[in-house]
Amino acid sequence: MHDKPVALVTGANKGIGLQIAKDLAGHGFTVLVGSRSLENGETAARSVAPDARAVQLDVTDQASITAAAERIRGELGRLDVLVNNAAIAHAGKPGQTLEEILAAGRVSTVALGDVRTIFDTNVFGVIAVTQAMLPLLREAPAGRIVNVSSSSGSLTLNADPSFPFRSAYGTYGASKVALNAVTLAFAIELEQTPIKVNAVCPGFTSTEMNNFQGTRTVEQSAREPVRLALLGPDGPTGTFSDENGPIAW
Ligand code: NAP
Repeated sequence: MHDKPVALVTGANKGIGLQIAKDLAGHGFTVLVGSRSLENGETAARSVAPDARAVQLDVTDQASITAAAERIRGELGRLDVLVNNAAIAHAGKPGQTLEEILAAGRVSTVALGDVRTIFDTNVFGVIAVTQAMLPLLREAPAGRIVNVSSSSGSLTLNADPSFPFRSAYGTYGASKVALNAVTLAFAIELEQTPIKVNAVCPGFTSTEMNNFQGTRTVEQSAREPVRLALLGPDGPTGTFSDENGPIAW
């Protein structure tokens, strides 16, 4: 078995996931850089740490997920942290403005196929990856699962007419609501084990997801997910937070 703790970050070839990978490497983890393109993952892994490894992982492809889990067991024999970070904001072409992305997500007009594509990645992908990695996480002394959600997945906030980002609530937000629901279900199911499962909002961050219109840096936004990945035995499970504290579900 590998002597260092091992962390897998999905969608770690760029954006917030890449920064989470770098920070976890800085905390002594051997980091597996999940990437649906192995080549992009290998390039990213070189920037993470000398012992970081790329893992081909498309969260919508069960064969890819199964192969990744088998490879982790075969090569390292352990998995301590899973960060479900991979997500999409829309099902269209890259390079759209934030305004175009929000318009495409309106539930009154969005194509049902696009809704399925978004939920496939942001919700079903998280369930599938978590199921595949759970046997390894159960064997870890302190398994941690961090689901990268968003305040746009807070029903409480979006139901409040004074919430400033309320007008952005649409298909993507609904997928993050579903992700939060799944996070809590995993947390409840696993609460008699050492595994902790929490959802986190990184904040509005400058990445490809919003055509770099976010206002925070990836360095700022990786902090809360990394804090949750490093929780001690007395840390919470089944929470939804950002760096300012709990977020209403
Ligand atoms: P990003 O730069 O667009 O990165 C998204 C990552 O997910 C990429 O590595 C992408 O891979 C990967 N991905 C997409 N579909 C995938 C699939 N089927 N299988 C595997 N990987 C897949 O976005 P980001 O802003 O860093 O987003 C990271 C997380 O933060 C997401 O969960 C997002 O919802 C959340 N978030 C972001 C913000 C924000 O303002 N940016 C705010 C709140 C929450 P490719 O390179 O192959 O496309």
